[in-house]
Amino acid sequence: MLKPGATIGILGGGQLARMLALAAAPLGLRCHVYSPEKDSCAFDVVHAGTCAPYEDETALGRFAGAVDVITYEFENVPAKTAAVLAQRKPVLPDPKVLETTQDRLVEKTFISGLKIPTAPFAPVHSATQLAEAVEAVGLPAVLKTRQLGYDGKGQAKVSKSGDAVSAWRSVHNAPCILEGFIDFEREVSVVAARARDGKVECFEITENEHRDHILKISRVPAKVTPALAREARQIATRIAKAFDYVGVLGVEMFVVGTGRRRMVLVNEIAPRVHNSGHWTIDGATVSQFEQHVRAIAGWPLAKSVRLGRRVEMVNLIGAEVDEAARWLTVPGTSVHVYGKGEARPRRKMGHVTRVWPR
Ligand code: AMP
Repeated sequence: MLKPGATIGILGGGQLARMLALAAAPLGLRCHVYSPEKDSCAFDVVHAGTCAPYEDETALGRFAGAVDVITYEFENVPAKTAAVLAQRKPVLPDPKVLETTQDRLVEKTFISGLKIPTAPFAPVHSATQLAEAVEAVGLPAVLKTRQLGYDGKGQAKVSKSGDAVSAWRSVHNAPCILEGFIDFEREVSVVAARARDGKVECFEITENEHRDHILKISRVPAKVTPALAREARQIATRIAKAFDYVGVLGVEMFVVGTGRRRMVLVNEIAPRVHNSGHWTIDGATVSQFEQHVRAIAGWPLAKSVRLGRRVEMVNLIGAEVDEAARWLTVPGTSVHVYGKGEARPRRKMGHVTRVWPR
């Protein structure tokens, strides 16, 4: 259990690390960010920073020596980096989780192994296997690279069998997974926290709207029945337990079917704080970032309560960050600008949260 004044080491220096550090401060904890990029926006708000490659074992050793516990803000931490650090200090959540979530095929196999429904899927390692996978999964389908895909990168839709060859070429013949294309009613997610003692607290199920494969808006309450919300929370809880997870994780899901046959399919697990949980900073008594800090510190989790009858989080993507000034004047709205340099297209530059009073 960490004592006030202790230091949390964070791998990665983006907005998630920044918001983690901002949540740790009121609890009397310091953060030390390790990032290879010198203009990382988390460096602006932390007690200490290390700018070095993830392969630099001397820098990693020094970082581990300076912190009390280590966590990460993104799932593509190299396995070797995590292993080097884990010899020196507790790394939470356990890096073995990354072996599952860094590979879409391993991840989907893990989820279905828990008897949790997903889209139908099949591995694709060659053009021949792609034809077999199309046969097994059916069309339309989505071809996704097994590794390093996010926000729609490394994905190609296969609507008819003639699309298969160009889809395979567009992912540069990388190892892939073919998934059945799901005609979902809506997209939702559950952000859950699991403490060191195994206790789980889920945030309210959140409804997510994507534009161009990037999360644009998250809303609570989600338009789902209490039974479906319960099922979604149970799924997230089972996943967290199966990983013996410590910290916050996000589980992205599709709502499918109608009436009593309505159900959720798991699309993806994010072993970290999640964009769809940003609304909890201003829209709940305890945020996902504080909950993650509490969990890895070995402190009790909160029962977080939503503030307001409805809450909406809108991402400011690319040049939309210029709208921040306008949002400052909208009643009930909190503005978060991440302090990143260039507002490149598709880059998450900030977000705003609107809370409608009860
Ligand atoms: P992902 O990179 O897997 O998180 O996918 C990004 C977005 O693409 C999701 O949030 C969905 O909107 C869409 N998507 C991904 N997989 C599927 C699928 N199998 N069927 C339909 N839409 C999908």
